[in-house]
Amino acid sequence: MIDLRSDTVTRPTAAMREVMTRAAVGDDVWGDDPSVNAFERAVAERAGKAAALLLPSGTQSNLCALLTHCQRGEEVIVGQHSHIFRDEGGGAAALGSISLQTLPHEADGSLALEALRGAVKGDDLHHARSRLLALENTFRGKVLPRDYTLAATAQAHEQGLATHLDGARLFNASVATGLSLAELCEGFDSVSLCFSKGLGAPVGSLLLGSADFIARARRWRKTLGGGMRQAGLLAAACHHALEHHVERLADDHDNARRLAEGLAGVPGVEVRARDTNMVFAAFPEAHCRALGAHLEACGILMAAGPVTRLVTHLDVSAEQIDRVVAAVNDYFTGADSDLSASTG
Ligand SMILES: *Cc1c(COP(=O)(O)O)cnc(C)c1O
Repeated sequence: MIDLRSDTVTRPTAAMREVMTRAAVGDDVWGDDPSVNAFERAVAERAGKAAALLLPSGTQSNLCALLTHCQRGEEVIVGQHSHIFRDEGGGAAALGSISLQTLPHEADGSLALEALRGAVKGDDLHHARSRLLALENTFRGKVLPRDYTLAATAQAHEQGLATHLDGARLFNASVATGLSLAELCEGFDSVSLCFSKGLGAPVGSLLLGSADFIARARRWRKTLGGGMRQAGLLAAACHHALEHHVERLADDHDNARRLAEGLAGVPGVEVRARDTNMVFAAFPEAHCRALGAHLEACGILMAAGPVTRLVTHLDVSAEQIDRVVAAVNDYFTGADSDLSASTG
């Protein structure tokens, strides 16, 4: 199958599986796993942070960060379409008694500096105490401008907030801009990275921050049930991804461009956005079910809807992108299609 639903669907490569079988391991809850320790050190160094913590998922990594930054009754300022707000099961509220103050996104994915400034509550006993600004990069594939992240984090710090970056796809931002991981992490007190998306590891996220912050986050990881034992098997896969699958993200970005250009040429399809490894395309609503079925019969998985997110990754080649475009084109221009009748 050609699976464009997400970059989480990547399977470990043969080389990655081989590295996993050879990994030196120990009990990571005791800090004894050499592969975990080496991986945490390598990424911390590359990101310009003092320490790192391996976690099983990005959701747990973000939650650990929020729990470490905030006390019960404190508040995080986040985008209203951010993963932390929409896609993490309300964990901050459910498990941390932390409230989330959402702000709308600008067209480039940022949260307007003036809106951010105004959202920080004054020292008044009526208000939750504003404690943390959390940004997301990339956001729906878009790279936040570096001038913006530097200005937003500086302003947050001036107003007494800490800063967190949900960098699940920060390596995509790095490859797209040529900026180093350390440059992209600048200004943030903590950063969460995912290795199980376009980088192709089966499991693994890292939380980065100061030594004291990570020591406190390590306690929360245990509390949340995220303390893993011989986790070196997973760290070895992530470390392999770090060394072999970062530069090749450029191929995914090229494939997203190829897909966007191909789909833009199909009558009835509207390409709304294309950034890094994501394409957002609008298909006529009346056709979505039949299109989805047609594509599935062609071995292509995408959640065809009025606005569909298509994601390129390690397990999709340029040749497969051409097959996707051809299959969509066949559907809309084929003999059994009556596009004009259904869309008016
Ligand atoms: C995928 C993702 C996460 C983490 O998700 P998990 O599935 O829990 O690993 C966090 N933030 C963003 C923006 C993501 O895309």
